Amino acid sequence: MNLILLGPPGAGKGTQAKRLEDKFSIAQLSTGDMLRAEVSSGSELGVTAKKLMEAGELVPDSLVIGIISGRIDDEDCKNGFILDGFPRTEAQAEALDEMLSSKELKLNKVVQLVVDEEALVERVTGRYTCAKCGNGYHDKFQQPSKEGVCDNCGSEEFKRRADDNEETVRTRLRAYHEQTAPIIPYYEAKGLMERVDGMADIEDVTKQLERILEAA
Ligand code: AMP
Repeated sequence: MNLILLGPPGAGKGTQAKRLEDKFSIAQLSTGDMLRAEVSSGSELGVTAKKLMEAGELVPDSLVIGIISGRIDDEDCKNGFILDGFPRTEAQAEALDEMLSSKELKLNKVVQLVVDEEALVERVTGRYTCAKCGNGYHDKFQQPSKEGVCDNCGSEEFKRRADDNEETVRTRLRAYHEQTAPIIPYYEAKGLMERVDGMADIEDVTKQLERILEAA
């Protein structure tokens, strides 16, 4: 089962991909997470990506295509994968098609998380994660049950993404409309598109996605 989750920043792609990963034993492939790992490691690729990411701009197609192509061959992708944050441009969508056909793989579904964009800015600017286990929280919508302590692992260290500030979120939304939304008709023409209400409760969104995956 190979799936793309599409949607603007803050639509819930990462949260939902993590939930589906466990249930269907498929790997979440987040280009954002991979790029953040490159930035932390200080690699050449990371240095190139850092400035663009902090500004909310997309990094060059060739860089993300390269990291995804290598990753799809890993053992944990053998049951399938959920692409989270890739493809984000028409060139990436075309490169993905070529990559999959050369590996004799196919895309089963493309699911768009449909959200109210004004709500996104509040969602994104308030979110943070446990620095140890990555569990997600939000200043307003999802605080740990004991203040300052991760519900999942007990760590007291949390982190926020450098690009989760209002100005950058607005730039990221613009990038989504200008560069990513145009790939929707590409997948519609292939008969692969499904839509899910991304404003529903996290649990309800997961259920909608599970139904789509089970029927695919
Ligand atoms: P994300 O974690 O998906 O919100 O991505 C964070 C940032 O990483 C984006 O704003 C871009 O700068 C960069 N990025 C992630 N995925 C891609 C991609 N497929 N193409 C270009 N840039 C990307």
